[in-house]
Amino acid sequence: MTDTISPQPGILDIKPYKGGTSHVDGVSNVVKLSSNENPFGPGDKAKEAFARAVQSLHRYPSTDHAALRGAIAEVHGLDPDRVICGAGSDEIITFLCQAYAGPGDEVIHTRHGFSMYRISTLAAGATPVEVAERERVVDVDAILDACTDRTRLVFIANPANPTGTMIGGNEVARLADGLPPQAILVLDGAYAEYVEGYDAGKALIETRDNVVMTRTFSKLYGLGGLRVGWGYGPKAIIDVLNRVRGPFNLGHAQLEAAEAAVRDVDYAEKCRIENTRLRAWLAEALAECGVPSDTSCANFILARFASVDEADACDAWLKAEGLIVRKVGGYQLPHCLRITVGDEASCRRVAHAVRAFKERDL
Ligand SMILES: *Cc1c(COP(=O)(O)O)cnc(C)c1O
Repeated sequence: MTDTISPQPGILDIKPYKGGTSHVDGVSNVVKLSSNENPFGPGDKAKEAFARAVQSLHRYPSTDHAALRGAIAEVHGLDPDRVICGAGSDEIITFLCQAYAGPGDEVIHTRHGFSMYRISTLAAGATPVEVAERERVVDVDAILDACTDRTRLVFIANPANPTGTMIGGNEVARLADGLPPQAILVLDGAYAEYVEGYDAGKALIETRDNVVMTRTFSKLYGLGGLRVGWGYGPKAIIDVLNRVRGPFNLGHAQLEAAEAAVRDVDYAEKCRIENTRLRAWLAEALAECGVPSDTSCANFILARFASVDEADACDAWLKAEGLIVRKVGGYQLPHCLRITVGDEASCRRVAHAVRAFKERDL
């Protein structure tokens, strides 16, 4: 017993999540390219569904999310009984840690992995284990080497944030098959929709009992402000997650707008194609002025600079131009800046500003 008010072990080790900033003092016409949002916003069908939902704000929402799960299952060819919806995929990550990891357990994430894995692990009282990447790419052998009989969860995002890199299906399968029997592989597919023809791990899930995927409406679907995500996995795991899920974790407007969004496959496809086109253009424009990046599979580019000082100076330069990008020192990439692929005008502004920065008088 302790005689002071204190949180559970691990909680005070959490560094609070820092979101992308959205304004610059004294600069108007600001473009926010720091949170990987869809520059075009949600489609009209999602917006209309959201507007209609205002009629039923006095009603409690569905507790089983049957309509949204049904729509997700239909569009992606999944079993609706093994879909779980949450307040962003962040909530699914939280459920996984809460349900499967506690004091003494280890949860693996990779060196440049998404910060929520560590936060949710510590919040559950478990121990985060960081594993090296190979040149900003997830290293399956390093992860397998780091597994112990205490490993309960392994988180990788594919494509990854903030690197934008991806590993192939065979590598993911090798990882799933090499894990110790008590460990679950979590494939974070926040950017899966940006990769043409990618099943985000669906085939792997259908043939194994230790793989779960998380997905979101926050990126390609342009609904980051709404907070809707989902997970898919083996029945036994989804049943467990549903026990820790609050009965009303999603509101009516969230459910309705997300359902309309997932059914609007034409809009999603349009956004994916536009992202692919502008991403290639932006990467090339930056490379031409001496700022390389790994080939990105997502809706952002991780621009690499010669030094931390140069990255910081470029960030300040862009900020003064009203262009807000993301510093990624917290992801152990202090010499890089993560730049969301915006609309065409924004991409041109970024390319122009980075060129001017590189050509400035020093
Ligand atoms: C943006 C992002 C998410 C999505 O979070 P939501 O809670 O669904 O908004 C999840 N994982 C990664 C790697 C991300 O970049």
